[in-house]
Amino acid sequence: MKRAYLLDMDGVIYREDQLIEGASRLITLLLERNIPFLFVTNNSAPTPNDLAVKMAHLGTKGLSSRHFYTSALNTADFLREMHPVCTAFALGEGGLTHALQEARIPNDSISPHYVVVGEGSPSSEKITKAHELIEKGARLVATNPDCWCPVSAHKTRPGAGALTAYLETSTGQRAYYLGKPNPYMFSRAAKRLLGAKSPVREVVMIGDTMETDIRGAIEIGMQAYLVLSGSTALEDLRNYVYQPTRVLENVADLVKEIESGQHCDRLSSPTFRSLAPATHSRQKKRYSTA
Ligand SMILES: [Mg+2]
Repeated sequence: MKRAYLLDMDGVIYREDQLIEGASRLITLLLERNIPFLFVTNNSAPTPNDLAVKMAHLGTKGLSSRHFYTSALNTADFLREMHPVCTAFALGEGGLTHALQEARIPNDSISPHYVVVGEGSPSSEKITKAHELIEKGARLVATNPDCWCPVSAHKTRPGAGALTAYLETSTGQRAYYLGKPNPYMFSRAAKRLLGAKSPVREVVMIGDTMETDIRGAIEIGMQAYLVLSGSTALEDLRNYVYQPTRVLENVADLVKEIESGQHCDRLSSPTFRSLAPATHSRQKKRYSTA
């Protein structure tokens, strides 16, 4: 069976609106060779169309909305499957409201089944409204658990996970988190890519974040390739119980492998399992993958 790829975006394909080495060639190669692939992102703010436009502006060719699966789509899929006639009050951007509309989940600010929190900066009035609706019985759902998201190399913003934690605290209700690393994100993405009956072990997840991209893939039985072009440095690997299947400098390594048909094994994770335990001198920030 032909291998299929799930690709994270920020830190894998681009950083700060610049394509990472090998990204453009990889996309061209996957399209030319008809290799199944899907971009999976925890960023619930953009629609798939928005992402296709962004990628075109960055210089890629041939991508359309069908190549993107966001945590907003994943959340809409989940709610539709769990509760086909539900309604929702959404705190989020266009990507979330569009996904809920596409799944025929009506917006409800009176008595919704769910309050759904996505990426964005809602007004204090909307946050208060969400609090009231949860107190009245709505269930709290988040599109993704990221507490912060990168804005630039040295700047971050609060993520959906942070706002959800706020509502968890104010209402005492625990939220359910979709997006990576929830296995539902990976299983749904694989289903879109290959159909319901395909084995997930033939799918490779390529990501730069251990807590989400790599953890989720490993737990569901996919292969997990870590790239060092984003949020994780090689020495960080010793901080984790789980390890990626392979480690690549960036997606250019994968391009070489696909072009040559030869295994490109510049780095491999077993080497790093023997690294000494980390000291406690570094404070790790809670994660982001957006
Ligand atoms: Mg990332």
